[in-house]
Parts: sequence; structure tokens; C-alpha cells
Amino acid sequence: MGQSDREGAGVLHSVSPATNDVVATYKKTTPAETGRVVERADRAFESWRRTSFGVRAASMRRAADLLEERKERYASLMALEMGKPLAQGRSEIEKCAWACRFFADHAEEFLAAEPAETSASRSYVAFRPLGVVLGVMPWNFPFWQVVRFAAPALMAGNACVLKHASNVSGCALAIGEMFHDAGFPEGLFGVLLVGSDEVVRVLELPRVRAVALTGSSAAGRSIASHAGRLLKKSVLELGGSDPYVVLEDADLDLAVEVCAAARLVNAGQSCIAAKRFIVVEPVRDEFTERFTERLRRTRMGDPMGEGVEMGPLARRDLRDQLHAQVRESVRRGASLALGGEVPPGPGAYYPPTVLTEVRPGMPAFDEETFGPVAAIVGARTEAAAIQCANESPYGLGAAVFTRDAARGERIASEAFEAGACFVNAQVHSDPRLPFGGVKESGYGRELGSFGIREFVNVKSVYVR
Ligand code: NAP
Repeated sequence: MGQSDREGAGVLHSVSPATNDVVATYKKTTPAETGRVVERADRAFESWRRTSFGVRAASMRRAADLLEERKERYASLMALEMGKPLAQGRSEIEKCAWACRFFADHAEEFLAAEPAETSASRSYVAFRPLGVVLGVMPWNFPFWQVVRFAAPALMAGNACVLKHASNVSGCALAIGEMFHDAGFPEGLFGVLLVGSDEVVRVLELPRVRAVALTGSSAAGRSIASHAGRLLKKSVLELGGSDPYVVLEDADLDLAVEVCAAARLVNAGQSCIAAKRFIVVEPVRDEFTERFTERLRRTRMGDPMGEGVEMGPLARRDLRDQLHAQVRESVRRGASLALGGEVPPGPGAYYPPTVLTEVRPGMPAFDEETFGPVAAIVGARTEAAAIQCANESPYGLGAAVFTRDAARGERIASEAFEAGACFVNAQVHSDPRLPFGGVKESGYGRELGSFGIREFVNVKSVYVR
């Protein structure tokens, strides 16, 4: 089903990507209701902003407990609405609980006033909340993306209004209910069931002070331009085409395992999934052979089944788009080493696919491939590999594999143009580290002490 099938007159449909059946239909939030949700959030903000960190943390810890208690239900909901295998859904919920507790524990320290030496008798920098923050979120990690935005924003004293992706309305409502049950003030976390064409109208409401988008670069361009016109703060977490560089001195057992996991994570539908594998010549053939074998063994199946490594993609239109990128890359000279065929049946399944001889000018190199399609690119030297890694409009994550830790660290720290650079490990998010990109992967940061300071007024206080 495409966008028009997910949205009907006044309704949003959730469609199981495993069967292509409509599994639930939700009434859209009307413009009048949207106004009321935002007003309620703003009213709740007026008292919430004055609460202590201790009070906020108590609700946030309760949210973490509820997430854990409801883990099975939430994992099933994700499997149903967007095809995530149950085991991965459970891990996602556990990670959400971790982030809630992390910000409950550290918000006060991250937002403590910073004294400044000036001519004043007393001067310092204080961090005060902004008000209602709109979160426009994607379907790929339906709970994690929302919690990652909301936990720090709420702990900083803000209110949140969520516009989730149209295909995961059940998850959106479940998250709203969870924050409500955790004891946050009535309306502090609001949920809107609206399509993407209604986002601008929400952003234009005067009580909405800022917007966080996690989504595609196309959505980022649109939201950023409207936020600019309205002079509202925006944080954009967008797409990526993460390069994984494999050098001649890499531990190939490790590189193959990590690269495979990093490409298959969430059926390849992760902004920080590994997408381009840039392998230097001495190890290219061996890496390609072993990596392809590893992907061939992927256990693809019903996301509700246990032991499944990869479910369907989230929507058939996205699967078809991915397949078109594969076909066009082959037409431009890439070779298909594995997969590349749409399986029969109504689901949005796509097999693990390996393209070799990939070069700039092919969709598999220039664009984000949001699914289990690996692009292998050869490079003669380390310098050529790095140049190739950076030759992308994106700059979200990057990884390098080498047995020489100092060499790896130099490349990660100095050479890669990306927001998260890892050595001998899969790029991943962690509440303790800032997360975000450069270039067309967006701007601003989530998580860590940097993330919680995005939606605050950095206020200078000067007392003569
Ligand atoms: P998407 O199509 O951009 O949608 C993301 C959200 O934005 C949805 O709520 C969507 O609403 C809304 N949206 C889409 N176009 C919009 C527009 N022109 N104006 C306002 N809102 C708009 O992305 P997706 O397919 O859901 O998610 C995949 C993308 O997200 C990938 O590019 C991925 O890399 C990126 N992503 C980035 C990060 C990160 O942290 N950097 C993390 C996860 C995903 P509807 O559903 O109603 O269309």
C-alpha cells in the first residue's frame, strides 16, 4: 500500500507489512482537536516548568517501569504495524527504559547553572525550558525515536506533542497512554494523528515553540524551511549512507560479523545501518565472499515468529522503491552477488542483497538504501577508501575495521565526516553519547548532555 492507502478521508490505516492487510483504522485528529491538544500541552507546561527535577524524575522512572511491564504488548504492536521481529522489539523497549532512567538520573546535572566570571556580583548561565516542542517521528524505531526525543525534552521542563508516522498510529497512542499512566500532568505529552501535510499547520500554532524531526532528508528540507520562516528552533535527525571501511589489517571474522549485523539491523531500515562497505583490495574478495555467505544465511520470516532475524520491510511502497534502486544500480554497472528479487506473496519482504562493483553515480552509492541491500565498493589504499567514505551527501555514522587501534582512532577522529565514528564496532546510539549528523544528515543533537540542551533557553543571568 502507498501513502494514499494509509490515509483515507479522515482516517489513518495501519497495514501489516507481513500480510498487506489493514489491521486497524484510526480517526484523524481534526484541526480543532489539534488546537486543543496543543493548548492543553501549553497549560500543563506552565506548571511543569516550575516542578523540581526530583518530581520530573519520579514520573520518568515510572515511565521506565511501565515500558518494561508492557514490553510484550509493545513488541507485538511494532511487529504488527511495521514488521519488527519480536526479539528486536523487546530490545527496543528495554533501551527506551534505559534512556528514561538515564535522563531521570542526569537531567539536573546536565542542566545545572554554569557560573560565569564577569563584572557582575553574580552571573551565570541557566537552562530554562522553551514550551511545547513538536516531535515529527518515523516508523522505523517507533518507540525509541519518540522516547529519545521526549525523555530529555520533558526532563528539561518542556511539553511535547507527537506527530508519529502515519503507519504506526497504534504505537503513537500507546506511547501517549504510557506517559499519561506514568503520572505526567494531564496533556503534557499530546498525540496528534495527522498526515504529513498537516505538520506545517501545527508548527504555525504560536504555542508550538520548536520542532524535532527524525525522518528523511526530504522531510527535513520542508520542515526546516517552514521552521526558518516561522523563526522556530529545529533539530533534524535525517537519513544516512554510513560507510564501513575494511582495511587490509582488519580482523575479518569480526568485520564480517559486525558488518552483516549492521546492514541487517531492523531489516536494514535504520538511519545508522551500514550501507556502503568500502574494502581495500588485498581483502576485498575474501570479505565479499564471507560477507555474502553470512547474509545468505539470514533467517527471514514472520515478525511474530520467534528466532526470526529479519521481517518484512515496513511498507510495500518502500520495498518497491528499494528494489528500483537495486535495479538502477545494476543497470549502471553494479553486479548482483546475492538477492535482488522481489519474493512472491502479499507481504513487503525483500531478501538480503549484495551489490558489488558499486561506484559513485549509482543509487546504491549516492542515495540512502533503506533496506537489506549492501553495496560493496573497492578501494586501492586507505586514503582512497576514506575519500570514498566521505564522498556522500550524508554524514551520520561511519566505521573502520583495523587491528591497529591508533590507526582506527585517527581515521574515526580526524578523517571521517560524520557525527558518530566507530572503530571495530557497529555504529549505535547510546543515551550517554550525543547523536546526530552533519551535511544532509541534519543538524542538532539528541541524547547525552548535548541533546538535553537543544530545547532550552540558554539564559544569561547578570546581577550587578
Ligand atoms: P519520512 O517519510 O521523512 O517520515 C518521517 C516523519 O515525517 C513521518 O512522521 C512523516 O509523516 C513526516 N513527514 C514526511 N514528509 C514530511 C513533510 N514533507 N513535512 C512534514 N512532515 C513530513 O521518513 P520515514 O520513511 O518515516 O523514515 C525513514 C527516514 O528516516 C530515513 O531517511 C532514515 O534515515 C531517517 N531516520 C533518521 C534517523 C536519525 O536519527 N538521523 C533515525 C531514524 C530514521 P507521514 O508518515 O504521515 O508521512
